[in-house]
Amino acid sequence: MTPVKSGNIAILGAGESGIGTAILAQKMGWSVWVSDAGKIKPEQQQKLKELGVHWEQEKHSEDKILMADLVVKSPGIPDTAPLIIALKSKGVSVISEIEFAGNYCTAKTICITGSNGKTTTTLWLHHILRKAGLNVGLAGNIGQSFAKQVAENDYDYYVLEISSFQLDDMHAFRADIAILINITPDHLDRYNYEMQNYVNSKFRIIQNQRKEDWFIYNEDDPLIAAEIEKHKPTMQCAPFSIKKEVQLGAYATNEQLIININKQFNMSIHELALKGKHNTQNALAAGIAARILEIRKDVVRESFQDFTNVEHRLEYVAKVNGIEFINDSKATNINSAWFALESMDKPTIWIVGGVDKGNDYTELSALVKDKVKAIICLGVDNQKIIEAFTGMVETIVEAKSASEAVMHGYRLATKEETVLLSPACASFDLFENYEDRGNQFKQAVRSL
Ligand code: ADP
Repeated sequence: MTPVKSGNIAILGAGESGIGTAILAQKMGWSVWVSDAGKIKPEQQQKLKELGVHWEQEKHSEDKILMADLVVKSPGIPDTAPLIIALKSKGVSVISEIEFAGNYCTAKTICITGSNGKTTTTLWLHHILRKAGLNVGLAGNIGQSFAKQVAENDYDYYVLEISSFQLDDMHAFRADIAILINITPDHLDRYNYEMQNYVNSKFRIIQNQRKEDWFIYNEDDPLIAAEIEKHKPTMQCAPFSIKKEVQLGAYATNEQLIININKQFNMSIHELALKGKHNTQNALAAGIAARILEIRKDVVRESFQDFTNVEHRLEYVAKVNGIEFINDSKATNINSAWFALESMDKPTIWIVGGVDKGNDYTELSALVKDKVKAIICLGVDNQKIIEAFTGMVETIVEAKSASEAVMHGYRLATKEETVLLSPACASFDLFENYEDRGNQFKQAVRSL
């Protein structure tokens, strides 16, 4: 629990989570002060005005923040920021929005983390639970702030997408059901370039779980398996696998998806709304949670079939003269691009590149040799990619805009081939964010 129940709260960052925290904190009797080192968007300023809380922008008044009884910080602010170090050395509690809102939430929480697949699994599970008629909210690293919803709604369940940055500032929060989809290198710059620090952060998802709570995890993931071996968790465990049979949990063969929770559930994997082995894993994880919550099999089946994912995740864009274009702009690391390439069933022209987060491209070599006909580098500095794949594919070209990349793709591909944007990198060198990159790609395809 939060160490103090009310008093002065300083909220660092006036984004979605900061404003949500302000709404909940005010409702719960805290004296609220919001501080943002950057410019606060006009619509957020308006909300703060309506709430009648005090705020500042383009600075952090350290003296004032250090006087707070509790600090809630935006997940974007690293623990190494001097202000956070000063707060911690003074003994002021610094927590995340999720932790704060968790104190006032009586609903059951299903919390989903992992390096890739969080959003897809969160939305898929939320879709199943809504279809089953549960009174369920969706929050965390997605959509509306958790704190705001706790203040304004009365849900019985929440499906929460939780990033490692959010987990870092969660201490007493407990998930009724925790899901860990996978752990592969990402965001290592925030973890002192130590993979174990990142692994520890992900495993915070199960901290505070009781014996009767559930932990759903990917048994095929070597890092997760090693950690389970180390920790020997005592809550109820339900692993999933796409490689071997699982007694209590779920697994998939090349044909079938089987969930062994509360009697057996069977379905052909070909009926799943989303393609690719990674999405089978996401379905297994969401399916286990749904069956733990005793959702009827016919509802699970139907929801597995009719789910539509959000944009930029292996999203089909169009077929132009027999050439298929796929937008996977959200693939910002090696593992997500690996699954995209793995799921390609036609010769592929692969658009890759952007801001490299320390990628090891050799992990993709086998798939590139097998599936990729040409590579289009879409980034400011493409040297590492060119070096990694020279000799492996015949053609490697560079592009400095989405439309140039699409033009190359259209020229290099022939009928019955696919042009795939799955960059394995962040987008900030040429685009505002991954959505901007995906939208520009789609726009260029539609203008062909
Ligand atoms: P996150 O919220 O963790 O970033 P998303 O569902 O938004 O995950 O997907 C991000 C990227 O990862 C997309 O390119 C998607 O196709 C890919 N992806 C989705 N699920 C998985 C998974 N289970 N394993 C690996 N990659 C995945």
